[in-house]
Amino acid sequence: MSNVIHLLTRRPIESPEEVLPRPDECLACFVHRMVGRQGCSAALRWVEQFRVHRTRRATALGRRLVARGATCDCSVTDVVWRPGPQLWEWSEAGQLVPPEQVPPCPGVRPGSTQPCRLWVAVADLAI
Ligand SMILES: [Zn+2]
Ligand SMILES: [Zn+2]
Repeated sequence: MSNVIHLLTRRPIESPEEVLPRPDECLACFVHRMVGRQGCSAALRWVEQFRVHRTRRATALGRRLVARGATCDCSVTDVVWRPGPQLWEWSEAGQLVPPEQVPPCPGVRPGSTQPCRLWVAVADLAI
């Protein structure tokens, strides 16, 4: 553990690479991974981190997510996209619940702001 403190969350981070998107990691996997490790920023700062490093020209990205109901990072992988049904797990109470961790991102093409195949749009689920 280093003594580097993350500027957004004020929690210690292990290395700067830990808070950057991996080379072909998708937006949903990155945001979900960061919220799991570092916590929600209570804004869309992990989304912005992704945009700056991976899809710099997608300046409307945050606005598009807000239009789909996102209010903060953790809501991106709750109200906009959710882990696909194949990943859900049975809780001890006998309910199907979304997984706390998702498998490693299978990747998306460079510059894409779409999630990978691990995720489904909530709008599609709620039929
Ligand atoms: Zn949140
Ligand atoms: Zn992914």
